Amino acid sequence: MKPIWTGALQSSLSFFFSFDLLAYLCRLMEELLKQIKDYRAEIEAFNASDDKAVEEFRIKWLGTKGLVKNLMGEMKNVSHEKKKEFGQILNEFKQLTESKYEELKLLTSNFKPQTSNLDLTLPGDTIPVGSRHPISLMTNRIISIFQRLGFAVAEGPEIEDDWHNFTALNLPEHHPARDMQDTFYVQQNPDWLLRTHTSNIQIREMQKGKLPIRIICPGRVYRNETVSARSHCFFHQVEGLYIDENVSFADLKQTLYFFAKEMYGSDVKIRFRPSYFPFTEPSAEMDISCMLCKGVGCNVCKKTGWLEILGSGMVHPNVLSNCGIDPNKYTGFAFGMGIERPALLKYGINDIRLFSENDVRFLKQFTSAV
Ligand SMILES: [Zn+2]
Repeated sequence: MKPIWTGALQSSLSFFFSFDLLAYLCRLMEELLKQIKDYRAEIEAFNASDDKAVEEFRIKWLGTKGLVKNLMGEMKNVSHEKKKEFGQILNEFKQLTESKYEELKLLTSNFKPQTSNLDLTLPGDTIPVGSRHPISLMTNRIISIFQRLGFAVAEGPEIEDDWHNFTALNLPEHHPARDMQDTFYVQQNPDWLLRTHTSNIQIREMQKGKLPIRIICPGRVYRNETVSARSHCFFHQVEGLYIDENVSFADLKQTLYFFAKEMYGSDVKIRFRPSYFPFTEPSAEMDISCMLCKGVGCNVCKKTGWLEILGSGMVHPNVLSNCGIDPNKYTGFAFGMGIERPALLKYGINDIRLFSENDVRFLKQFTSAV
């Protein structure tokens, strides 16, 4: 039989031991949580520059003797009540470490330096860059001059109906002026045709009824002409239109004078010759002094010293009425010029067919980016 005191001593020792253990476990849990917090911060801030650093990360944290495993080992020391909570925290920490490892692997593999024979210091393959077509260069140049005067670019359809191409422009069905242009008609519907000038754009803009109008209309036009070095069945035009109250012939002259000086140089001379167009009244053709012979006379200007560059005039009141604009209130001027002729002159080209033959040897000579 055990003496009574032995039992009492044992029970009192057990009491003290239990108290100590509880305090120890609490401290341990606190330390572990703080440790995990520090680890998290360290992992989140970690960056690897190469594969070696990623592998070191794996060994340190996820290896068989790694810190995650170490923490797992502490589970047995955590008090029974806290096991669940600690397990959850530990699990989250493990997941964080694993996903960081995957992220690091991905990053370093993306930026992995090439180990092949690739020499990054060699010059790259040349990408062939096209050049602008001389017609585009000339068109853009003309547009940019008029844009500085406040003209906006307007465009319209190349397949047009008779009304917009002829009738609205004061050329009724049997008007002799229609003989001036041989026209491509659409066989299925004779009311449709390939526009013979870009004036159809002017009609469409006037019909919108938003005044004043100050537009420049570039585009391709078609006429049934024999293809030769001097003429083609399609070519390009730029037309302009300005309609407002009190627009006069003086405005027309000043605008075109400004254009000629900007386009052909400040010493260019201009002259107006009376002409006839059904859609303008009065009408005038504008010549510039030949820039090749400086007005002395050469083959290009046919010994006259002058080059014809555009047709112009005050918009005919009938055209304004056709488009619903009151000719008693509004006046305006219009002008139009071909693009091919000045481009031939500017670039010294002797055959208009070169523009549409798509010969790279010809086209690559025009390197301007404008
Ligand atoms: Zn000349």
